[in-house]
Formats: sequence, C-alpha cells, structure tokens
Amino acid sequence: MKKILIIISAILLFQIIGISSSIPELLKPIKIAENLYAVENPRGGNIAFLVTEEGIIVVDAGSIPSNGMQIISAIQSVSEIPIKYLIYTHLHSDHIYGASAFPSDVKIIAHKKLVENLKAIIEPELKKEITDLPNYISSLKNMKDSIPDKKSNEYIKTNKQFNLYSSYLEELKTTQIRYPDITFNDKYELTLGNEKVILEFPGSGHTNDNIIVRFPKQNAIHAGDLIFNGIVPYVIAEHGATVNGWTRITEKLSLENIKFVIPGHGTITNNEAFKIQTKYFNDLTLKIKELKNQGLSLIEIKTKIILSDFKLRDEGNQLPVNIEAIYNEL
Ligand SMILES: [Zn+2]
Repeated sequence: MKKILIIISAILLFQIIGISSSIPELLKPIKIAENLYAVENPRGGNIAFLVTEEGIIVVDAGSIPSNGMQIISAIQSVSEIPIKYLIYTHLHSDHIYGASAFPSDVKIIAHKKLVENLKAIIEPELKKEITDLPNYISSLKNMKDSIPDKKSNEYIKTNKQFNLYSSYLEELKTTQIRYPDITFNDKYELTLGNEKVILEFPGSGHTNDNIIVRFPKQNAIHAGDLIFNGIVPYVIAEHGATVNGWTRITEKLSLENIKFVIPGHGTITNNEAFKIQTKYFNDLTLKIKELKNQGLSLIEIKTKIILSDFKLRDEGNQLPVNIEAIYNEL
C-alpha cells in the first residue's frame, strides 16, 4: 500500500486531506473590505473575489469541479453579477481544477510560465492519477473485504478511505484543465468597473509561475501559496520552488504595510504573515546549516529537526521535504 501511496503526488494528497476533513456543504464568504471578499477553502486553495459594477474578478478556482461549484455558490450568495475574470495564482491543481465549474466565457489570467507548466506537469499528472488511482482503490477494497469485523474501527476507516478515493477519482475524470486566455511576464493591471487589480510576478518562490494579486483600493493582497498560514509550506523543487527566492519575496513584502493578506492556505491574516513565513524559512535554514557544519548527513538532520520546534500543522508530512529542499539549496 505504501508503494502505491508514493506514486500519488504531494498536491493530490493535500487535496485528499482537505476532502477528508469535515467540510461544510456551503462555503461562507468573508467580507474583507469594500467590494472585496475571501473564501477560506478547506478543500483547496483560498479564494478572493472582487465585485465591480461590470463583473466579478475571482482569484483561484478550488481543487476539483464540485469545489469550484461550491465557490461559485459562495460568490453568488454575495452578488448575481456575472464572473468576468478568473486569476490563477500558480499551477497547482488545488487552485485550478475547480475552473472546470466556471462559466465558459470567463477570461482566465495567469503568468506566462503557467501555460508551459500545465502542458509539462499538470496534464501528465492528471492522466497519471486517473490511471493509478483505480489500483489504489482496489487495494483499499481488498483490504476492507479482508477485515472480518465490519463494525471495527479499522473497517470503518478503510471503508471511508475507499469511498473518499472512489468519489475523488470520479471527480478527476470530469476535470477539465482550462488554459489562460491572457498571460503576462512581470506585471498586469486589470481595471473593471471602478476597481483595479494588479498582478505581479515577484520571482520564483513557491513555484516558477507564482504571482501575487494586489487590491490597491482595499490595501489587500492574495499571496497565493507564498503564504501558508499556520501550516508547513509545500516546497516542490520540481515545480520550480526555491526557498531562497521564496524568502526574498516574503521578506520584501513584509516591509510593506498591507492590511489584509489572503494566504493560499490557512485563515485570512495580515502583514505579519510575511514576517512569520520569512522567519520559518530563516530559522529552518539556520538549523540545517548548523547541523550540516557539524558533519551530519541529510538523513540525520531530518531526525534532529522535529515539528514541535515550530507552531505549525503538518498534515502532509512536508517538514522533511522542506529540510531536503533547503539542504539541497545550501
Ligand atoms: Zn501550491
């Protein structure tokens, strides 16, 4: 079973974790400032949406089609004005697969590099997951069938996993990867109604296509996954993540006085989030450097640094992954 689990990508695991936690049917929008709302999304990346007289601008789409539908319902509970634009903060499926549920005339905006990433990473990943998951699901079925006591906790747990992955697979099969209509390199300004949104590429950090979305009138920002509030961040080197670059970005942003920060994951926060994210990486880097200088190997270092050193949740077991990424960058 472990072997099968390994082939499931880190992002998919993150989504599964999200789905398996207790999820309300309805996602409730939180009013941040005039015309600006956020949705804290337990099934994927967090959402921001800006309501203007001429249409709604949405940042990120959620993790799977049914999550995209939940997000659309949340938006419609605030305003019936049509959604005009959808912005992707980066390539990860937990931020873009929900786009399948968005109306077909919505214009999607993203960084230029994201197009390449969808072709090279996301398309093959989706295909692979659809191919690999049935094997995993059938191993779960065999496992639950072999448990004699159908009332035991073990059976209940395995059966829950079986149902979870089965319905998840059906969702993946209906997922459509939607490509952006508009792309940019460094900066893109979008004006709609009386509102303005500024999209910026701050350099590679969480991914090589990560952007930040500024709402200047509201002094707010959607930081994408450059901020994981209260959660060990996902550092996926194959997706262009660089802790060095990431720390430079958050350090620079921490010097600004941004009032509202919508993180990629975790609860809505403020400018402190940039300081905390920077400190996490700096502290971790320092510890790794010290241990490396003492002659410890990567495997030994991983055993020396423990989660309780940080006040963070780590449901996807990402701390060792973070350590390895930093170690390799040193
Ligand atoms: Zn991400």
